[in-house]
Amino acid sequence: LVVLNGVNKHFGALHVLQDIDLTIARGEVVVVIGPSGSGKSTLCRTINRLETIDSGSISIDGKPLPQEGKELARLRADVGMVFQSFNLFAHKTVLENVMLGQVKVRRTEKKVAEKKARALLDRVGVGSQSDKYPAQLSGGQQQRVAIARALAMDPKVILFDEPTSALDPEMINEVLEVMQQLARDGMTMVVVTHEMGFARSAANRVVFMADGRIVEEAQPEEFFSNPRSDRAKDFLSKIL
Ligand code: ATP
Ligand code: MG
Repeated sequence: LVVLNGVNKHFGALHVLQDIDLTIARGEVVVVIGPSGSGKSTLCRTINRLETIDSGSISIDGKPLPQEGKELARLRADVGMVFQSFNLFAHKTVLENVMLGQVKVRRTEKKVAEKKARALLDRVGVGSQSDKYPAQLSGGQQQRVAIARALAMDPKVILFDEPTSALDPEMINEVLEVMQQLARDGMTMVVVTHEMGFARSAANRVVFMADGRIVEEAQPEEFFSNPRSDRAKDFLSKIL
């Protein structure tokens, strides 16, 4: 579904993504881990073209990423993104947040968009918060709204960039549970996270990055019990 081929990216002198080859199949859940600064966020951002690349190619459903205009807006709808900092529209209600993209990008009729938004908000457990503004919600609730907003676009894949890192501990699980459920429902997901429990239970594959490269890729049991590279061994010894 998503194919990266020989992707390179620089920030000035920094070679932040180096010869990245990565294929994500439909329905697959790929967890990306690695030290701070290894390029995990940049990798996610290139997949929905929040960042351009210097060389190589990225395609979704066999089509290269569009460069601009309406096509790009549609790509961002097809490739949902959930950020650490929620990024909800502060001056829109929860319901409006989940309706907006449907109406503007997908050209869905308002009535239909509202019905779908309410159903999705129920699904992630915040149905009773529809008329509030994001600031009136807990972090865990806001993040679940962000997930509902991504889902409202019927995305082909959702990228999660440390979705629970900004949350208080007691709110982490409510977000992880929603993500677990999505994974079980067959959503294609790329998840940057330090939640190794999630990686073990939900991931089909763990991708370990260091210094802009994919150093190791394996199934979670294999990766956690028998990491091959010294970089991965070192990283795991620090976080487990
Ligand atoms: P973390 O675990 O801390 O989130 P990460 O693996 O997500 O790290 P990235 O955010 O992808 O890492 O950053 C990779 C490197 O690129 C870092 O050295 C970072 O400082 C640098 N970088 C990221 N974005 C930019 C930018 N817009 N301009 C210049 N340098 C950047
Ligand atoms: Mg990051």
